[in-house]
Amino acid sequence: MTYAELKKYQPEAVELLKKAVEANRLSHALIFASPGEVGEAALGMQLAQFLLCESPKSSLEPCGECKSCRLFLQSGHPDFHEVKPKGLLRAIKTDDMLTMIKSLQNTSHSGYGKVSIIHQAETLRKESANRFLKTLEEPTSNTFFILLTSRVERLLPTIKSRCQIFRMKPFSDDVLRKKAEKELKIKGEDLNLVCTLASGRWRRAVQLSKDIKKYKNLVQQLTAILSDRDNATTPAVEFAQKIAKTKKAERKKFEDESKKEISAKRKVLSDLDPTVRKEIIAELEMQLKSEQGALERDEKAGIFEAMDALWRDVLTYKSTADENLLLHKFLKSAIVRLADKYSENEVIRNLNNINIVRGPTVYLNARLDIILQGLLAQAASKSDELAPLKAAITATGL
Ligand SMILES: [Zn+2]
Repeated sequence: MTYAELKKYQPEAVELLKKAVEANRLSHALIFASPGEVGEAALGMQLAQFLLCESPKSSLEPCGECKSCRLFLQSGHPDFHEVKPKGLLRAIKTDDMLTMIKSLQNTSHSGYGKVSIIHQAETLRKESANRFLKTLEEPTSNTFFILLTSRVERLLPTIKSRCQIFRMKPFSDDVLRKKAEKELKIKGEDLNLVCTLASGRWRRAVQLSKDIKKYKNLVQQLTAILSDRDNATTPAVEFAQKIAKTKKAERKKFEDESKKEISAKRKVLSDLDPTVRKEIIAELEMQLKSEQGALERDEKAGIFEAMDALWRDVLTYKSTADENLLLHKFLKSAIVRLADKYSENEVIRNLNNINIVRGPTVYLNARLDIILQGLLAQAASKSDELAPLKAAITATGL
């Protein structure tokens, strides 16, 4: 990504960084907090190259020609380090962090300082995070750390409090569309679908473009259940059970892989003192659990996202009677039928109901199948009473 592109993608973050550089107020430790791959890595690289450049063009713009820039662009700058998550767990390895921390003890080769970028800093484990904290507490002059993260809330508070935080925003609609068209090679209805649902979050756009068939299939199933209002209960139960079964199988797969990873780690650590080994394994187990939790949350959130988008389409058609404005154009006639079967008030009620259960189901781990059954049965119900949904909420203890 060029500087010009960065200014287009992240105008506010670029401006704030520039101001900090010009006022000489750039902290030695920075966090680029992003909603998920919206140019934060490119901006980190840009800043790193600038900090090491011998004759920058302007604040934040390296010359691109000096010895330092040439080394940087050839990925061989001795004063620049990158740490990235590795392995099945996609976590930062303690060894990699230690190598980076150690390298800071050497003097700068070029005399222009040192820069380290830590990718997905939220995957730093406790042990290396604490070592890193010590480095932050005793900074060497002209040493810069750039921590990239899409889950800033998961960084240790003690690390966060020592860093200057720059928040990246989601892409504008126009930027996301152009980028998705070019890089994800999608167009027409799929492009519109992916960009609208992702609402500026690049990572979500990438995920959706990969799973577009799965997404469409999901919306199609929901539409089919909701179309036959009088007989929705049984299909709703079957649908929810099928989702739960798939989720169970995916969890089993993840747990099997985790077991393998843990037993491999045990072997590697067999020479260590048992107490230390136990601690490391416990830490690894915790990391795995949180990784699994994050995956499941994404999946669950995706189902509610699809339901929400479907009802919004129905509402759009009810208020405009224009098929061309629908998001799910592949389901045009089915959505027109839904619009005929549900009143505006009912659609709004259904949207509200999704909102009531979405957060708690995704984040508090309520039984997804029971909530889905309740939500679908409630949507199809012609009574004003919220009996099916209330029953589901009571059953799951939400
Ligand atoms: Zn340069």
